[in-house]
Amino acid sequence: MLKLPGLIDPHVHVREPGQTHKEDWDTATQAALAGGVTLILAMPNTQPPIFDAQTLELALQAAQAKARCDYAQFLGAGPQNATTAAALARRAAGLKMYLDSTFGELRLDRMDLWQPHFEHYPKPYPIVVHAESRSMAAAILFSALYDRPVHIAHVSREEEILLIKAAKQRGLKVTCEVCPHHLFLSAEDIPIFAGNHPGRGEVRPRLATRRDVHALWQHLDVVDCFATDHAPHTLAEKDSPSPPPGFPGLETLLPLLLTAVSEGRLTLHDLIQKCVTNPRRIFSLPEQPETWIEVDEQVVYEIRARNHFSRCNWTPFEGWKVKGRVRRVVLRGRLAFDDGQILVEPGYGQNVRH
Ligand SMILES: [Zn+2]
Repeated sequence: MLKLPGLIDPHVHVREPGQTHKEDWDTATQAALAGGVTLILAMPNTQPPIFDAQTLELALQAAQAKARCDYAQFLGAGPQNATTAAALARRAAGLKMYLDSTFGELRLDRMDLWQPHFEHYPKPYPIVVHAESRSMAAAILFSALYDRPVHIAHVSREEEILLIKAAKQRGLKVTCEVCPHHLFLSAEDIPIFAGNHPGRGEVRPRLATRRDVHALWQHLDVVDCFATDHAPHTLAEKDSPSPPPGFPGLETLLPLLLTAVSEGRLTLHDLIQKCVTNPRRIFSLPEQPETWIEVDEQVVYEIRARNHFSRCNWTPFEGWKVKGRVRRVVLRGRLAFDDGQILVEPGYGQNVRH
């Protein structure tokens, strides 16, 4: 049995408030524990979006009542909330800026809307950007001009990882995360897992080319964090004429990464750096005392969504053969997950920004 620290996932869409038919604080945090994740950072593109004191309170009340693992909640950057968000920074995981289109209503198209956020948001807390390609280049420039940390979400392309590498070599305060689906899937895999339902392949950033996937593996040293971008939608929604983008990921993160470790593509040290040490440092998260996970490294099995706790009930990795299963999770001294059973009640999870 392999003992690891509890994992931190800095990019989770809990879907509550507003879309609890997809997921809620209860099911998302059960999925987290089952995946060996003991701390999640929740994204703000809910309904309503989290962008001021009232909406933050709405999300935190739901979390306080239902969460089974620890958490913090992001604020979203809107066109008019730069000073409001800055005043709430101590209570939030960070500020999320959507510079490219995604699921929800938080996109900031115009550059003059970015400036107040870079001016006001307190520097100890990172601004996380959804910024692809040229928008990413602009975000890196903003990081340099305002001399403040920027964390780039879900890097997926060769040109992006090379740009981040160059920014880091210059000493810019840029960090980044990569999602398992961009490491283990390319656009060529969509017909294989989506079959006659191309909507199941929709995700933002899109699945990239094989060359891009190869480049991410080649530049793992540039990658600070692995993050799931757990973005559940029901299969009925994914198979509809306007499928929303997003994949679930909390319950497949660790098995996929442990399989890569067993194949020699990743070291266990790297896994711990990118799933625990680096996210803790980048987001100034506290240590979780008496918290660890126990993993059976040798067991080989197939990923099946029917065994998952996420409400969305599907995965792009259905049927994948993986090596390594989470057996036990101990969170702040309590056995929280044991052989497929969640053992802590809703509300056990704590807000680490309280
Ligand atoms: Zn996301």
